[in-house]
Amino acid sequence: MAKVRILSDRVANQIAAGEVIERPAAVVKELVENSLDAGATRIEVEFRNGGRSLMRVEDNGLGMSRDDALLALERHATSKILEAADLDRLSSYGFRGEALPSIASVSRFELQTRESGSDVGTEVLVNGGKFVHVHDCGRPVGTRIEVTHLFNSVPARRKFLKTDQTEAAHIVQCVRLYALACPQTAFTLIEDGRVIFRSPECATLAQRIAEIFGRQTAESLVSLDAAETGLRLSGLIGRPGIGRGTRHEMIVFVNQRPVDSRTLSYALIESYHESIPKGRYPLAFVFFDCDPSAVDVNVHPAKREVRFRSEPTVRSFVIRAVLQRLRELGDAGVRMIEPAPTAPNSADLTNAMPAISRPPIETPTRAVAVSVPLGGGSFVRAASSGPFTRPAESVASAAPSYTIPPTEAPLTLAWRFVGLAHGSYALFETAAGLVLLDRRAAHERVWFERLKEQFRAGTVPSQRLLLPVPMELDPISASLLLDRLVFLNAHGFEISEFGRNFYRVEAVPGWMEPADAEAFLRNLLGAFREGRWPDSNPELARDELARLAALKAVRLPSAAGDSDLRVLVTELFATQTPLTSPSGRPTYIELNHNELSRRFQK
Ligand code: ADP
Ligand code: MG
Repeated sequence: MAKVRILSDRVANQIAAGEVIERPAAVVKELVENSLDAGATRIEVEFRNGGRSLMRVEDNGLGMSRDDALLALERHATSKILEAADLDRLSSYGFRGEALPSIASVSRFELQTRESGSDVGTEVLVNGGKFVHVHDCGRPVGTRIEVTHLFNSVPARRKFLKTDQTEAAHIVQCVRLYALACPQTAFTLIEDGRVIFRSPECATLAQRIAEIFGRQTAESLVSLDAAETGLRLSGLIGRPGIGRGTRHEMIVFVNQRPVDSRTLSYALIESYHESIPKGRYPLAFVFFDCDPSAVDVNVHPAKREVRFRSEPTVRSFVIRAVLQRLRELGDAGVRMIEPAPTAPNSADLTNAMPAISRPPIETPTRAVAVSVPLGGGSFVRAASSGPFTRPAESVASAAPSYTIPPTEAPLTLAWRFVGLAHGSYALFETAAGLVLLDRRAAHERVWFERLKEQFRAGTVPSQRLLLPVPMELDPISASLLLDRLVFLNAHGFEISEFGRNFYRVEAVPGWMEPADAEAFLRNLLGAFREGRWPDSNPELARDELARLAALKAVRLPSAAGDSDLRVLVTELFATQTPLTSPSGRPTYIELNHNELSRRFQK
């Protein structure tokens, strides 16, 4: 029988590392938290290759003596709590004494530190959990930790890492959160030698937001401060009417700790129910504070999720606090003087955004899947649903083929236009029964293929704007845009960088309403950020752009007559996939005679 043994510290640390250090951003998180716990007023974070090859965190905090530095690398060594009951009075980020030994067990870990009062610093080097050396070193007061070769000794974990770009995005987001939590600490973040942001000590949260998210965002916010027995909600929230397409600017801290809290997120979304369009997320940078004993932070190894002892109390307090503030603003007439980044167009685009995450392959829906074109280039359909007919003998002789381009045969429109219902649905009488065509879906399909053709040919008409649109972006969006500038400018845009995080849109594609330019680009940036953009494949990226563009390009005139519909149907059936819109909705549905008889119980 196997003998029961106590794991060596090295193995125990590697196992713990699996829980705490799931990716490079987790290392950065732990190190930044330690720096803040050490009272740092200046923190610099540098990383390379998404954290894979290097992460360095340097602070001007308290530093450690040689003994403390060595002890800190022992499992469960912490200066922050003495007994379990202290967990209820927690005011520091760290408490388990697990981070440093875990990180050091799965990387090459070099620590340099000096306390004030000591005239020499200490350097400790650990490699893959094995102690290498300790000796004196010169350095300013504070601590510098450099982590390289992360997970080199644990190939299984290395395999789970995503692309450098994704890992980098997590690191950047992490540092941003702590920079928001502690505006009084100066933060610098450097990726691959490029400064992502450098924010000096800020007097207020609003200033820090302006530094990191841009002035436009900061100006869309109003302050909030509400308290009730033992609970407090403070910070900045978006003015009524201002919403975003993603949750990136909805950030909550619980007792200064950036966390995921479903309770708080939902409470915020619910509070804005009547203040922003459906499907948009509010802007919020809020701090929820309560007695540490009312919240359990020890739920998740990485301490990201929190649970409240009384979720309903927290929820109703937050909703009341936010609603009260929104109401005050409403009464003050803020709604009237609001700028209009929430014009219905931008909401449209957001609602349409899920399309981008779908596979680029068209999947005809069940309703229309039966109408597969039959016959060599003709449009007579199996279920006789095609709008065109040609003499029967040519059908009989033609072998089934789906590849011949549909435009070549002389065609007669066999769908008789009956009328337009609700402005959207065109009703046709056909040999097989009735057809209801969704004008918008059909136009989208036509535009989609037209745009794809323009993209392929490199002939996207562009229109110069009378007044260039200035756009201020947060540093992450700015660098994402910069990386894709060539692509966008090759597809009808003319966007130039001018100044730090500022861009100017000088021209937009011909299909676009100039007034939609900013909202369209911001939504596109949302897709870049969430990794929903197929960067690695220019073909797919072009398809995605065409898909989004098609949604915006369609401007339906309210009236449409027989000849308009004739043109539309002809164009639709000249496309490669006439049965569905680019986002996969059916372009028309058919009620055949059998279906009609059944419904009328004939
Ligand atoms: P925890 O933060 O849970 O205490 P860690 O493993 O993260 O555990 O750190 C262990 C100890 O090392 C801390 O309690 C602290 O005393 C010391 N320490 C770690 N990082 C720093 C730092 N940047 N400056 C000063 N002391 C530090
Ligand atoms: Mg710690």
